[in-house]
Amino acid sequence: MTAAGEMTGGRSDAAAPAAIELRGISKAFGPVQANRNINLRVPKGTIHGIIGENGAGKSTLMSILYGFYRPDAGEILVNGQPIAITDSQTAIRAGIGMVFQHFKLVQNFTVVENVILGAEDGALLRPSLSKARGVLKRLAQEYQLNVDPDERIEELSVGHQQRVEILKALYRQADILILDEPTGVLTPAEADHLFRILEGLRDEGKTIILITHKLREIMDITDNVSVMRRGEMVASVKTAETDPEELAELMVGRKVLLNVEKVPATPTKPVLQVEGLRMIDDDGVERLRGIDLQIRAGEILGLAGVSGNGQTQLLEILGGYPPKGSKVEGTVTMNGAPLPLSGRGCDAASRRRAGMGHIPEDRQVEGLIMDFAAWENVAFGWQDAPEFNRGWLMDNAAIRSDAADKMERFDVRPRNPNLAARNFSGGNQQKIVVAREIERNPDLLLIGQPTRGVDIGAIEFIHKRIVELRDAGKAILLVSVELDEILSLSDRVAVMFDGRIMGERDPASTTTGELGLLMAGVTDTKNTPDDQGIPPEHAHVDGLPQEPR
Ligand code: ADP
Ligand code: MG
Repeated sequence: MTAAGEMTGGRSDAAAPAAIELRGISKAFGPVQANRNINLRVPKGTIHGIIGENGAGKSTLMSILYGFYRPDAGEILVNGQPIAITDSQTAIRAGIGMVFQHFKLVQNFTVVENVILGAEDGALLRPSLSKARGVLKRLAQEYQLNVDPDERIEELSVGHQQRVEILKALYRQADILILDEPTGVLTPAEADHLFRILEGLRDEGKTIILITHKLREIMDITDNVSVMRRGEMVASVKTAETDPEELAELMVGRKVLLNVEKVPATPTKPVLQVEGLRMIDDDGVERLRGIDLQIRAGEILGLAGVSGNGQTQLLEILGGYPPKGSKVEGTVTMNGAPLPLSGRGCDAASRRRAGMGHIPEDRQVEGLIMDFAAWENVAFGWQDAPEFNRGWLMDNAAIRSDAADKMERFDVRPRNPNLAARNFSGGNQQKIVVAREIERNPDLLLIGQPTRGVDIGAIEFIHKRIVELRDAGKAILLVSVELDEILSLSDRVAVMFDGRIMGERDPASTTTGELGLLMAGVTDTKNTPDDQGIPPEHAHVDGLPQEPR
């Protein structure tokens, strides 16, 4: 990543006209005060970050700015002029564009068709496709967006679809662009490219509002950053004058340890051994193409990779529920005993009895029964444990008090065992799953995306518990798309691409650049010229020329 923040941190002089100014904005949804008396000043020609935990009120504030919601109170000024933004057409006319988290593109239309669709021209004034195509080509070139106007949306990668959303806003002459969590769906290379695009737009005088919960993104490309917590704006600072620790503390309201503290691993005997694991799915596609790996007691093997490269299938097979209709080959042994990979004995319950725990990738589907109470979910999968059974009756009182105890120790909020799982926030749902799996003290813990959608306060907590389990001599397989998470937790890092392990690296000596290349399928990263690990001949990982840094 670049040090753009440092170079441009001084742009926020108070004399510059504010592109956006919010005064005293409040908005409640029933009993929830989503925004409370928010003041915000975004100087023209800057990249302004808005950071905050899930539920802090960021999206609500931006939806007010874009005319989706009317505020209960407060005033909006665009370029110094007070304006009532009653709907998104008003916002667009005021020069505000929004790049949505979930793209609103018509899949079987082309880029140019999507851009014209719904543009403020009215059916009669709609410009001809060829004219629009010309404008798009110019815009795409000017801002290095590299999108072919005639390509169909369904042919485009997620990163390119996002660029179409940006083009759409630019086509409508947006001067102020709002991006709500834009990198959640991108690979590191795509995210990097997006940031270069945003910097280009900023340098042309556009104003960018970037919403994210990722501190690194804020530090990388914003000029200023505002922090929201529980509906309030708690700080606005120049990025160059703050640091991740301070921002994290502002977001959470207490000091947060951003770096995982751990001593070097002291691995002992092999716990999990995977040899020649292959899987062909019900469409006949080979999803796993011969996976070999070993994890010993007392170590964390991190498995990095862009999602969709076989990690999910690997976890499902190891966890005892191979994808329906799939054919699995190879051997998996745990503590020396072979694990069945299909048929009898290949199920989650048998795996648990063998000493395996599993924090699945998709907690809402695999990890929790959303309509069941927290206490039932904490006990889920362990109903047959002796301590929960008296004769043939399940001892609900024992299960309930055990659950309450675990919720206490894992700081699940609210601490109400009777509340249905769906009524907890994502981070607290995850803590319920983590509590259940870790507290069973498994010999091997499979973990998929442990902190997806989880706030930094809870991330700190979950990471600590994982390291404690390792230090108690357990084997851990950690699958995550977050490279930072992989690098800070793992004792060894393997990278998965297209159903294969591309290579293994020592997290202490590798770089995100090197891992990023492996994640893109480039194997020869050993002879890279610098510590960024990005040789020019490999700068096309994303199918796009990389701009000079
Ligand atoms: P963020 O984007 O920072 O994660 P949001 O603005 O989405 O936060 O949400 C702020 C709060 O408002 C949350 O408690 C959320 O549940 C609530 N909220 C957001 N949108 C709605 C809505 N349409 N109806 C009811 N509550 C909402
Ligand atoms: Mg949001």
